[in-house]
Amino acid sequence: MRPQILFPLFAPATALPGLGPRLGKLVENLTGGTKVVDLLWHRPAGLIDRRFTPKVAEAPDGAVATIAVTVHKHEPPPNARRPYRVRCADETGPLDLVFFHAHRAYLEKLLPIGEERVVSGRVEHYQGRVQMTHPDHVGTRDEIAKLAAIEPVYPLTAGLTLKVLTKAIRAALERAPELPEWLDPAYRTRQKWPPWRQAIGALHTPGGEADLAPMAVFRQRLAYDEMLANQLALALVRQTLRKRPGRRIEGDGHLRAKIAEALPYRLTGSQERALAEIAGDLAQPSCMLRLLQGDVGSGKTVVALLAMLIAVEAGAQGVLMAPTEILARQHLAALEPLVQAAGLRIGLLTGREKGKNRQAILDDLASGALPLIVGTHALIEADVVFRDLALAVIDEQHRFGVHQRLDLAGKGRAVDVLVMTATPIPRTLTLTAYGDMDVSRLTEKPPGRTPIDTRAIPLERIEEVISAVARATGQGAKVYWVCPLVEETETSDLAAVTERHAHLAQRFPGKVGLVHGRLKGTEKDRAMADFAQGPIDILVATTVIEVGVDVPAATIMVIEHAERFGLAQLHQLRGRVGRGAKASTCLLLYGQPLGETAKARLACLRSTDDGFVIAEEDLRLRGAGELLGTRQSGLPEFHLADLAVHGDLLATARDDAKLILERDPDLESPRGQALRVLLYLFERDAQVKTLRSG
Ligand code: ADP
Ligand code: MG
Repeated sequence: MRPQILFPLFAPATALPGLGPRLGKLVENLTGGTKVVDLLWHRPAGLIDRRFTPKVAEAPDGAVATIAVTVHKHEPPPNARRPYRVRCADETGPLDLVFFHAHRAYLEKLLPIGEERVVSGRVEHYQGRVQMTHPDHVGTRDEIAKLAAIEPVYPLTAGLTLKVLTKAIRAALERAPELPEWLDPAYRTRQKWPPWRQAIGALHTPGGEADLAPMAVFRQRLAYDEMLANQLALALVRQTLRKRPGRRIEGDGHLRAKIAEALPYRLTGSQERALAEIAGDLAQPSCMLRLLQGDVGSGKTVVALLAMLIAVEAGAQGVLMAPTEILARQHLAALEPLVQAAGLRIGLLTGREKGKNRQAILDDLASGALPLIVGTHALIEADVVFRDLALAVIDEQHRFGVHQRLDLAGKGRAVDVLVMTATPIPRTLTLTAYGDMDVSRLTEKPPGRTPIDTRAIPLERIEEVISAVARATGQGAKVYWVCPLVEETETSDLAAVTERHAHLAQRFPGKVGLVHGRLKGTEKDRAMADFAQGPIDILVATTVIEVGVDVPAATIMVIEHAERFGLAQLHQLRGRVGRGAKASTCLLLYGQPLGETAKARLACLRSTDDGFVIAEEDLRLRGAGELLGTRQSGLPEFHLADLAVHGDLLATARDDAKLILERDPDLESPRGQALRVLLYLFERDAQVKTLRSG
């Protein structure tokens, strides 16, 4: 359970002064969270310096200035469209304060005639006058003296003003408690890092430009905290998996030999190497935890199969869990003929297997009659029991929660775990996503692929593209048509996709299909099947087709508004074509004007199809802090850590986490207890629960 000390930070943000449900929604859009703590992670991007206190005559146009003036006259506007003016002056000249939609009574109280007031805001020279429109602050000398001389400026969103947001963040800060110290005291002293409460306070009260820098001491501490929570959480899961007693799994190779005979191709060097590494791990008396990283089409599936067959040769069972039903079915379709060639059976278990059918599968798993199975998280359900599960392969693990992964591994005695991902992650980022996992990489592509012809075309030429699509489909080609990411909301993506579908359906009656995230599993499967083998030639889709789907006949990929997608995502989408023997084309339709980064992205995509190269370039172009589409890639999103600058601290955090768990595996010491608070602070509740007394 979350420690009580954190309760104030986990209260809803709407409980803060000035934030009702409407503004709360805007804060959520802005910070990605609904809690008080989410506001604390929202860091200033700039600052306003109110220390500049010139005389009126010395105040330059456009500067933010704090000026003491005497109020002379109020001039209410003749009509609502004109502004209300308050004429003021100091000994060097006149200054007008300008207000739109002003309340007269309010302004008369704020700026009493004949009295001195200090005003702070942006100075404008307008038609020969010096004026200030809607000053940020108005008050007596004493009142203004109490304000911070330097104010943070936060990134905003439409409808949320700096004033409202600042006030809410101030209030959030007031609620931030002193937290027990989770850092190693000697290390903290050496780094000269302040305690957490002081650090988060400093983040929101910058004293100058230097305090906005990522290497400011308090920011380093906060970044380190975040990375330590990340590394400790990963290490805890790893510890849970590793703590289990291991067993040696060694096969005699007879099943693998049969598969090798049945395969219409030879394994690539990368595949052979990965398999040797996996076989080596399996033969160890400890539990395997290995990541198999390989680009789309690099041939991970057959590696997974051969790995599972080692378990079967040893008399045990293997399971492959995929994040979606489409993928599970596709794995089955790819594996079944091979498995049969080895004289074995492979089962399928998804949410759609029900009743007697499901029971038969469960019986065969329990008896061992079924040595292999693929499926979705339906595999984790309590009544799924294996006779002797030895290897669990998890495809695209970031789509599963911690407990789903642990639960699958818990379905056997000393289960070895192989995690597969098609997202090539830059080396520097692998650590944040997977911690200290052993990694095998498939860097070679299977031979015989014709490279994909990638072209960038301005959107204005969409009609030409449609004509080209008409010609190609006339000759039997299948086409993916991916619609733009409109916003981060599903509804607007849906609108774009249905509109494009209607447009193309008119042009190609009866030949255009549609898939998007709102369709039911069965509907998606039907649309995919109609595209793969049926009458549908053009499949209009959102990015749901991104992961793993395989239609070898598809040779054209059209991506609308390609400039809105991340590089890694474009690469993944492009990987949907070029899977058969025929030459394939990828058309990147872009809207103009094209920014520099977007230009570089499209150029990169045209120059290479090596996912690892593309991933590194993506990181370089965006900076780790801004890797869009992080949710798809499975990379954790850091609030305050920026791997481009805090990369060295990440390695320290990894070592720190390792050492912590070596000394105190259940986080029971006083520092361990404080580290639990840290884990909860960064919402690693699931990982804390892996602890014995969590
Ligand atoms: P991914 O890594 O994206 O899961 P797959 O395992 O689906 O890739 O493999 C993509 C395609 O390449 C499949 O059709 C598979 O049969 C084929 N393939 C895999 N390994 C080889 C190889 N060594 N030589 C030729 N084709 C291969
Ligand atoms: Mg795959």
